[in-house]
Amino acid sequence: MTYVPDPARYDGRMPYRRTGRSGLLLPAISLGMWHNFGGNKPYENSKAMIHKAFDLGITHFDLANNYGPPPGSAEETFGRVLADGLRTHRDELIVSTKAGWQMWDGPYGDLGSRKYLVASLDQSLKRMGLDYVDVFYSHRPDPDTPLEETMGALDAIVRQGKALYVGISSYSADQTREAARILKSLGTPCLIHQPSYSMFDRWIESPAQAGSAALTQVLDDEGVGSIAFCPLAQGLLTSRYLDGIPADSRAAAVDNPFLTPDKVEVRLAQVRALNGIAAARGQSLAQMALAWALQTVTSVIIGASRVEQIVENVGAVERLDFSADELAKIEAVLKG
Ligand code: NDP
Repeated sequence: MTYVPDPARYDGRMPYRRTGRSGLLLPAISLGMWHNFGGNKPYENSKAMIHKAFDLGITHFDLANNYGPPPGSAEETFGRVLADGLRTHRDELIVSTKAGWQMWDGPYGDLGSRKYLVASLDQSLKRMGLDYVDVFYSHRPDPDTPLEETMGALDAIVRQGKALYVGISSYSADQTREAARILKSLGTPCLIHQPSYSMFDRWIESPAQAGSAALTQVLDDEGVGSIAFCPLAQGLLTSRYLDGIPADSRAAAVDNPFLTPDKVEVRLAQVRALNGIAAARGQSLAQMALAWALQTVTSVIIGASRVEQIVENVGAVERLDFSADELAKIEAVLKG
């Protein structure tokens, strides 16, 4: 059956927020495809999640060359969903992809050389069946490639018409200031930074050392937007683990080194306390965690394994404000 999006998707529920000092508005909530959209997952579920997201006003879909498994297959899934009908709405979509982590064997499939970034984006475009992406990222800083080369590659990609905007991910505050300076000098401003950020991961708020600026300050100074990855700490900041580790959860997956049962255990007391604060606000913990992050960043990229999680998470936008008392209570839990 042809996909027909919900005609009410732009009815004012989803806020669209300006990304830094650019013309681009991003939905407060974006959907990422790191987990659960690979070739190892049922296509119908991946498609249903993408459709539901779009129905709810999520216009931004975040990918990377290596998302799967196997690497590349999340882009293939997204390409298939486009081919199955979503392509009709291409001009309503912001599609991002990245290169920077190991993707293919040999010296040209990793990090930040011009050779890697240009070749990788060409492969990504083929997998998704797209002529261009909206945002292309350098996925991580490369300690050995001159920043001028990596940023020069991003600029060239925009001039070739393969990306409309460029961004950087997981760059430190100092690296970000320098990257933004180079990109500005080339005439391709840095649109966005994609850092990890959640109640449990607040590195962007603090200076790395005395005298240097926090990443948030640099982004403000440079007019660069921000989009948080893992805003739910991979599911920790939800009700997922309140009663143990479900067999179908990310923490139970044997092939996932990023969230292991021990990482769940050490946070459980805080998670339970935060869950109580969320309930008093009339929100789920996931909703409160997203609203909290949205005080600092332009957008949050959620992950999901089922449609219901996306529906719940989008409900965060119904209450984004916090009282001073609520913020103090959250701080007390996070410091505890
Ligand atoms: P989250 O912190 O949002 O975690 C998502 C997971 O949390 C889901 O897979 C699900 O776990 C669980 N979850 C989500 N909503 C709910 C809910 N309402 N109730 C219960 N459980 C819930 O983000 P991710 O770690 O998935 O990362 C999001 C995106 O960020 C990625 O897809 C990617 O696009 C981007 N990213 C970028 C990186 C970078 O280097 N730039 C690195 C990592 C991610 P379960 O699967 O167990 O159901």
